[in-house]
Parts: sequence; C-alpha cells; structure tokens
Amino acid sequence: MNIDCVFCRIAAGEIPTTVVRETDTTLAFRDLAPQAPVHVLVIPKEHYADVATLGQADPQLAGEVLATAAAVAESEGLLADGFRLMFNTGAYAGQEVFHAHAHVLGGAPLGPMLVR
Ligand code: AMP
Repeated sequence: MNIDCVFCRIAAGEIPTTVVRETDTTLAFRDLAPQAPVHVLVIPKEHYADVATLGQADPQLAGEVLATAAAVAESEGLLADGFRLMFNTGAYAGQEVFHAHAHVLGGAPLGPMLVR
C-alpha cells in the first residue's frame, strides 16, 4: 500500500466510498464526479501506477480487473445497450490518480470517443 495514494486508501477502507463489487484482488466503486449516469471505477487492490505497468507486471491481475469490470457492466445493466471501458494512462490522457483504474461508463449514449 502507498499511503499517499487515494485509491490505496480506498482499498484499505480508510476513505469512504460506495462499493459496487469486491473480489479478493479488485474493488469497484462509484466515481466521486460521475461523467455518465453509470460511472464506476475498477482498481486492483495492489498498487500499480497505471494499466501499462499493471499489464506488464501482472497480466493475471490485469485480467481480474477486466473480469470485475465486465461483472459491473452486467450488474449495472449496461450489456444490452453497451458501455465504454477506459484506462487513462499518463499525461496525454489526463490521468489524475496514479493507481491503475478502469472507468466503466454507460447508461446513456456516450458520444464520440475523443473530444478535440
Ligand atoms: P483519471 O483522470 O483517469 O485518473 O480518473 C480519476 C478519477 O478518480 C476521476 O474520475 C475522479 O472523479 C475519481 N476520483 C478521485 N478521487 C475519488 C474518490 N475519493 N472516490 C471516487 N472517485 C474518485
């Protein structure tokens, strides 16, 4: 655990959040500032700075993050109409929290993939 990392502190139960789903290795919780009717973040409980680092260091855990994201999409009723799964990575993507996380976005048409 990285004590300076807000998502490590959420995973440790030190910062309150609305948990949507939890496994031994992953946690899904609602985004504090939702950008869509459904906006859930899925993290590995173990700290990795971003999804590239996670995917290279522990592909199995990366797969578990995807499996949790898929289960969230199902339980939030997103499978019929579709959803977006997004991993902001690094400065060009505007990553704000440097603990790997997937955004599960849905519940309405989401518009173009990129705003230019
Ligand atoms: P990113 O720009 O991909 O790093 O996204 C970070 C996301 O974390 C943003 O959508 C924030 O709204 C969200 N966020 C930051 N702090 C919290 C928190 N304590 N609980 C839930 N979501 C948070």
